[in-house]
Amino acid sequence: MSMVRENEIRQGERAVEAPPATDAGLVFIGQIRTPWTSRMVTPRQGRRDGPVCRIEIFQPWVEALANIEEFEELEVLYWLHMSRRDLVLQSPANDGTTRGTFSIRSPARPNPIGTSIARLVGREGNMLLVQGMDCLDGTPLLDLKPERTGFTPIAPSQPGDFEVEQTSS
Ligand code: SAM
Repeated sequence: MSMVRENEIRQGERAVEAPPATDAGLVFIGQIRTPWTSRMVTPRQGRRDGPVCRIEIFQPWVEALANIEEFEELEVLYWLHMSRRDLVLQSPANDGTTRGTFSIRSPARPNPIGTSIARLVGREGNMLLVQGMDCLDGTPLLDLKPERTGFTPIAPSQPGDFEVEQTSS
């Protein structure tokens, strides 16, 4: 069997007839520039000490980068645009054993959204310099936000913030 890791179906994997993709109204707000042009060499998961990559923000969204340099880590959401979207069972090791798509972080999923925690190391105008990416060069960017644990909500608390599950004991 060939070693390709593109859109092949492996032993034991199951594809379904996926409903046609409908437009969820997503807007690509930029693109991620990385050293990787083949899925055969792209990291499985980004690492904090990985190569510095560039997140390019398109207009009219550049102004939305205001204050971003206050944060060391960003949550980056991107569209794994080369993925197949019809697999329900996948064989990550290509050994005939399978797992459900929602129990793994494979790029092949009904809505191929990738997320990474990136280390922000610099900014050059509309470009953010980050470490921790694992996507192909030119991958469309969906969103950026401060990493959750490094962010304290600025808006005042709401009642739901204090709600906890009542335990019976
Ligand atoms: N860190 C993200 C996550 O956990 O949601 C993505 C993890 S995914 C396992 C990373 C792999 O997706 C890469 O090794 C590469 O094989 C594949 N990949 C990267 N960019 C892609 C793209 N634009 N389209 C399809 N597959 C991509």
